[in-house]
Amino acid sequence: MMEIRLTKASPKEMKPKPVPGVELGFGRTFTDHIFLMDYQKGKGWKNPRIEPYHPLSLDPGALVLHYGQEVFEGLKAYRWPNGEICLFRARMNFERMNRSARRLCMPELDVDFVLEALRQLIRLEKDWVPTTPGASLYIRPNMIATEAALGVQVSKKFLFYIMLGPVGAYYPQGFNPVDIYVTEKFIRAARGGLGEAKTLANYAASLLAGEEAHELGYTQVLWLDAIERKYAEEVGTSNIFFYISDELITPPLDGTILPGITRDSVLHISRRWEMKVFERRISLDEVISALESGKLKEIFASGTAAVISPVGKLAYHGKTYVINNGKVGPLAQKLYDHIMGIQYGKIKDPYGWMERVA
Ligand SMILES: *Cc1c(COP(=O)(O)O)cnc(C)c1O
Repeated sequence: MMEIRLTKASPKEMKPKPVPGVELGFGRTFTDHIFLMDYQKGKGWKNPRIEPYHPLSLDPGALVLHYGQEVFEGLKAYRWPNGEICLFRARMNFERMNRSARRLCMPELDVDFVLEALRQLIRLEKDWVPTTPGASLYIRPNMIATEAALGVQVSKKFLFYIMLGPVGAYYPQGFNPVDIYVTEKFIRAARGGLGEAKTLANYAASLLAGEEAHELGYTQVLWLDAIERKYAEEVGTSNIFFYISDELITPPLDGTILPGITRDSVLHISRRWEMKVFERRISLDEVISALESGKLKEIFASGTAAVISPVGKLAYHGKTYVINNGKVGPLAQKLYDHIMGIQYGKIKDPYGWMERVA
């Protein structure tokens, strides 16, 4: 394995660590150090290093700035009651990053190596991992094309980095349902496109729909399939689940949906609980008719940031539907408690998902 060069921040460069009781918010504070590594075609990855956190210096012609060759990940490190710091299924994030990278003609990472780099970075930044319940250290690995060239082409140079930042509990006021707006005007991804890759274009494409939903008073957009605009795909940047009668249904990974690690965890857990679980297409018509006949029990989204997001209201075709009386349903609650319990070391992890790093 390559040696990771460490340059420590001087005391002057160090920022104040999170203080218990002070609201952290999301993604505004970054820790004192960053991991970086360069790639050059023909030479591979080189120069892995941990340095004081600093702005990047990029050529204005860097290909990422013109043609969007970029992939990223999002995961968290959790503080356990005994003070230890643990990661949740982190290997899956780097494996997914490699799949995203292949789609974007970007080089793959050595998963064992970047996991080791992440462990070293977290150990160095361990005082940044909040102790407040529900708070965590957010981890953002990113890869960008750095070669300067103004023709559309695959870059021969890349930069990979991992930045960290403490984040507050997603639901500081308690676990609450969100209101979502089904957009029929905009789409997130079509088959053959970038939908299953965690890459910047998908998020740029989603902003206008999100703004429109916000203006109408909704928190998130529910995306429909690009072709028929009939089938549910995702909610915002989360996967979606429908609980109808005694069946838990989520759209299948057909190329337009981001294969969420929380989604996979929900599937694992609910199968272990011997629920009836289906990965299949589900139309909004089916959802509405289940709602009208009283069979629709719950809708919830899944993702790293919120873990589980229950849906309280759904706006579709000019009508607003209330789900489960606008309350958190028992299944959403049970999954949320179970996953959070495992992540924060409150309950035993029967799946082997947690890894202690510090
Ligand atoms: C990241 C992401 C998800 C959720 O993935 P997790 O691994 O569960 O965090 C779902 N949909 C989109 C579009 C995403 O970007």
